[in-house]
Amino acid sequence: MSSTEQTLSIIKPDAVERNLVEKIKEIFKKNNLVIKDSKKIQISKEEAADFYKVHQSKPFYDQLCTYLSSGPIVVMILQGENAVILNRELMGATNPKEAKENTIRKLYGISIDKNSVHGSDSNSNAKKEIDFFFKH
Ligand code: UDP
Ligand code: MG
Repeated sequence: MSSTEQTLSIIKPDAVERNLVEKIKEIFKKNNLVIKDSKKIQISKEEAADFYKVHQSKPFYDQLCTYLSSGPIVVMILQGENAVILNRELMGATNPKEAKENTIRKLYGISIDKNSVHGSDSNSNAKKEIDFFFKH
């Protein structure tokens, strides 16, 4: 079964800083994901902590929130058939060293923390994350 979905993508500070925004957007477009909305913003550490609160018990939480708020990011709504899973496939594994060839993280990720992109991991989280950035 396939269905049109929306998911949230974030191009993280390491990739924005290296001018990879257009290259990453091309990968989405080439794979039939339509960019319905996109904005470049910088968030506070408090906002990052709120966004990533599911990870609050993890050892990397504080560093992750510092990192996501350390520079400009690009947040996007991607839309297409099975957008949630498709985006996760295009991103590749969390650790770029483990990511498959031609995935965004394999191509551009620097390390497990500076891994260039975020993508929602389920439809319910996609809705919450889209609301977080686009429906204030
Ligand atoms: N992360 C990290 N160290 C770890 C695991 C994760 O810095 O050991 C960061 C990494 O940037 C990752 C984010 O925390 O993208 C969220 O982790 P998650 O397990 O949800 O990975 P993702 O869904 O981004 O693949
Ligand atoms: Mg995740």
